[in-house]
Amino acid sequence: MAIKKDILKQVALELHKRAAMILPQDVRKSIDRIYSEEENDLSRFVLLSIKENYEIAEKESRPLCADTGLPRFYVKCGNDVHIEGGFASLESILRQATAEATHSIPLRPNRVHPLTRKDMNNNVGIHAPSIQYSFEPEGSWIDLTTVHKGGLFGSDYRMLFPSDGITGIKKFFLDCLSAGFHRGLSCQPVIVGIGLGGTKDVCFRIGKEAACLRIIGHRNPDPDIAGLEEELIQLGNDIGFGPMGFKGSNSIMDVHIEIAYTHTGGLPVSIHHFCFAARRATARIFSDNSVSFREDPEWFTEFYRREGIN
Ligand code: SF4
Repeated sequence: MAIKKDILKQVALELHKRAAMILPQDVRKSIDRIYSEEENDLSRFVLLSIKENYEIAEKESRPLCADTGLPRFYVKCGNDVHIEGGFASLESILRQATAEATHSIPLRPNRVHPLTRKDMNNNVGIHAPSIQYSFEPEGSWIDLTTVHKGGLFGSDYRMLFPSDGITGIKKFFLDCLSAGFHRGLSCQPVIVGIGLGGTKDVCFRIGKEAACLRIIGHRNPDPDIAGLEEELIQLGNDIGFGPMGFKGSNSIMDVHIEIAYTHTGGLPVSIHHFCFAARRATARIFSDNSVSFREDPEWFTEFYRREGIN
């Protein structure tokens, strides 16, 4: 049976609402832990305000932050799924849902033409909302994940040489933290996503996905990568920053690294900060049009990270 257009639209609208107003449990737990460990009075005050803010947002059905970011979708499809009207129809539905959610929630209409600053007043435009697809070899379902992430600061890219190695990655990581945190550009505590390898565009994409689509505490299945994630969490939390650029003991909720095979002559690295308003929501729609909402996007599957030919 094909998944119906009106179900997809309802789900997309609900996802926008949940993402904008309800902070996922893994992020709440992380902020709670950081608050309980923080000893600096000012940083404790800031963390308490962050906690109160997300509780009020959920209770009063308001967005978690006045800057509601740039809404985007991640779509994962089982290989056997059928969608009423096909994928062009799905794209249209996701655009409609974004425009409607901008007014019904409301979301701030952040998307404008880069030169003329023309504003459609609905977060829709050329390549907006961005929609990223991936596929799984089996299943007749579709996963929709929406992420409301800002698009201004907290991301950077550097092409390293292979000989720069882990030391070069750490240096770039620390340069990004101090540049972003000193100037208050990314609203800490943050989840840091790192893309290692690939081409420049893939490096940037997987780094952003690592920041936005993994649950706090989940490690990369490659033990070398997982070890580097843990080392960077420790390193980043040892530099003396707390929340919002103030002095403190924890500015990083987690570090997630994703890799792609790359050119033998280079070591591309991208770094992305996902702020404490880490807005994401996921639902699976099955071929019988039933729907199941969840908090883990489950984006990085074994198939998505496949290494071999088949
Ligand atoms: S970085 Fe996050 S918390 Fe800070 S203004 Fe942007 S959306 Fe809001």
